Amino acid sequence: MPASRPAKARSASPRAASSHATLTRQAEDYLKVIYEIERDGDAAGTTAIAARLGVAAASVSGMVRRLARQGLVAVERYRGARLTARGRRVALQMIRRHRILESYLVTRLGFGWDGVHDEAERLEHAASAQLIDAMAAALGDPAIDPHGAPIPRADGTVDDTRLRSLDDLAVGAAARVARMSDRDPSLLRYLAELGIRPGASVRLVDRAPFDGPLTVAVGRARHVIGAAVARRVWVTDGRR
Ligand SMILES: [Zn+2]
Repeated sequence: MPASRPAKARSASPRAASSHATLTRQAEDYLKVIYEIERDGDAAGTTAIAARLGVAAASVSGMVRRLARQGLVAVERYRGARLTARGRRVALQMIRRHRILESYLVTRLGFGWDGVHDEAERLEHAASAQLIDAMAAALGDPAIDPHGAPIPRADGTVDDTRLRSLDDLAVGAAARVARMSDRDPSLLRYLAELGIRPGASVRLVDRAPFDGPLTVAVGRARHVIGAAVARRVWVTDGRR
């Protein structure tokens, strides 16, 4: 006769014992930002963290020291902070929440793709793992969010390869739009007007010198866009 497991052990799911249950919203935001900076190729220096979070550099050092004491980052002298395995796990969990929330708001609740980032920034700190997993399941576990960003899986893995920006294309080269920055709603509305969305075929027709504007063919249309806009759109090679 099989022994029944004690009720206590059954209720203590690994999810409920989430390792960052006690982290502040601020700490969670720092870990996300450090992840993004590291993914772009470097340890996260104070200035870079401050710029991304829109806070004073002086306030960053204290928070980074606190994260280091909690074993979430390791600080490299003169270079900056890098996530530990635990810090990375928390960062990816936050990013998963953010991107699932954005996907759900757009797909199920009819929000525009330009209107979900700030909403997700707030909700990601409040939503439980169970809610996020239920939303993901309802959506069929999507691999990318409405802005083309990869969604980390529930097991903490993610295919987050670094992509070239539209600005990096050679003149004449064709590409497919993979993702765009989701930070600025007006940028997203502008890109939508131009037909620049994940999956769109683009070709760089011309580039003015000295960081001047780019002429981009989007499907059959041609648009002239600023280099700063092109740097916030990432592409993959070729057309299918
Ligand atoms: Zn977002």
